[in-house]
Amino acid sequence: MSLEALRALELGKVLPDGKHLIGGEWVSAQAGETIDVINPATQELLLRVPRGKEVDIDAACQAAARAFPAWRDMNPTMRANLLSRWANLLTARSEEISLLEAIEVGRPHKGRTNIGMNLQYFAGFADKITGTTLPSVKPEALGFTLREPYGVCGCIVPWNGPTTLMMNDTAPCLAAGNTLVVKPAEDAPLACLLVAKLALEAGIPPGVLNIVTGYGNEAGAALPLHPEIRRMGFTGSPETGAIVMKLCAEHLVPLHLELGGKSPQIVLRDADLEKAIPTIVRQLVSNSGQICYTGTRLLVEESMRKNVVAAVAQEMQRVRVGQWSDDADMGPLINIKQERRVLDYMEIGRDEGARLVVGGGKLAGEKFDRGFFVEPTLFDDVKPGMRIAQEEIFGPVLSTISFSDPEEAVEIANSTKYGLAASVWTNDLRRAVRVAKGIQAGQVYVNTYGWGSVIGAPFGGYKHSGFGRTHGYETILDYTQVKSVIINAED
Ligand code: NAD
Repeated sequence: MSLEALRALELGKVLPDGKHLIGGEWVSAQAGETIDVINPATQELLLRVPRGKEVDIDAACQAAARAFPAWRDMNPTMRANLLSRWANLLTARSEEISLLEAIEVGRPHKGRTNIGMNLQYFAGFADKITGTTLPSVKPEALGFTLREPYGVCGCIVPWNGPTTLMMNDTAPCLAAGNTLVVKPAEDAPLACLLVAKLALEAGIPPGVLNIVTGYGNEAGAALPLHPEIRRMGFTGSPETGAIVMKLCAEHLVPLHLELGGKSPQIVLRDADLEKAIPTIVRQLVSNSGQICYTGTRLLVEESMRKNVVAAVAQEMQRVRVGQWSDDADMGPLINIKQERRVLDYMEIGRDEGARLVVGGGKLAGEKFDRGFFVEPTLFDDVKPGMRIAQEEIFGPVLSTISFSDPEEAVEIANSTKYGLAASVWTNDLRRAVRVAKGIQAGQVYVNTYGWGSVIGAPFGGYKHSGFGRTHGYETILDYTQVKSVIINAED
């Protein structure tokens, strides 16, 4: 039923129109205002969501504070079971969730999401969080540590991968016994609301997970400043991350930041190009280049640059562009602002003297005219210091830079302010290890791109890409604070 309604874009049958979730209830914004969520391929209205503000954040934080003691004190095996039940529902309904997200983000729909599995991973830890016993200097003393939840946490989510990024915080946060207020992005909040609806259906108690929709400078800015908030997670741009960090500083609220990237794909001369090139192009265009860890710098050993550039160009020309319902490889950008930004960078690349090989503009034609479609774009002869080699474009634009040996490749790879991810393509294990160790980034891939083939690999940035990690066991510990208990049992 839900899938049919989604395919027919009858989103009012899937989610309540103009409502967000506070204390287990679907409510309007207190001021009654709404935000239109549009389809970025056609600019048609999909659904309205509340334009939440400080009062709505206050209501959500109060609800989360009321729900906290019972959630914290629940038998952790029961908590794990409830989260597991929610994970199973997310898996069972994963086609719907990923379809709704594809529609609002504009991504051609490719099937299921694995957020249920991510939640399952953390649900399993809920009853395995332990402290340590401390050595004592006399027999009558006993010391140990407790790991306790913070209380009410906040999380701000971007639009590019809303449910995955929301769950990256939500799963460890709730498993550790905290309650949460989520502020999704104004451009793509719908799939997050559906995920929260399934939490209620799974029996997660009202108030444990609250979603307040709204603009960043209104609902978003109010969240870290709320007196109930004890810990924040933010995923988004470095500029907004810095603002949120300053807001957190006002109330001394700890936070982790998952920010942007300018990730290098390093192709050494012995790379298996048949494997490397399709992966590099597929990864670049997936989500229209709007993924924080997208490999947007192609670093190629000079001796093979011409061949690699020609092969990448050919692969790029095969990319099929369309909207969520098409059998396509790439969709539109999220909004007009993002389209302007990407087109501006294409212009900047030309002005800086880089050689445009493929693309470089907006896509034209009946299918594209109402949406924010740009061409997959390849630049060659890019110098490491150029802006298109240094700044995050957040679009399907690949900048080719050449190097003469692996040491120079590492130097170029590390020459931006970012450090989120990187890959090295080579069949020489010794060079792969040298490069992987030399790169300053939170994840390094060898002969692949992405971490989907392993479970629990910590994800996060070096330098301006942020700090703190999602995924992995350490994340759940980050959602706890340590208390030392020292007992004197002397007569
Ligand atoms: P953004 O920073 O504009 O917005 C992110 C979120 O912050 C949105 O919910 C927005 O409403 C909110 N926000 C905006 N202004 C705010 C303010 N003053 N106070 C509080 N909240 C505010 O980012 P975006 O355009 O949605 O996403 C793109 C950026 O996110 C890119 O830089 C990308 O690399 C980064 N990103 C990083 C990761 C990661 O895991 N490292 C993942 C996805 C996206």
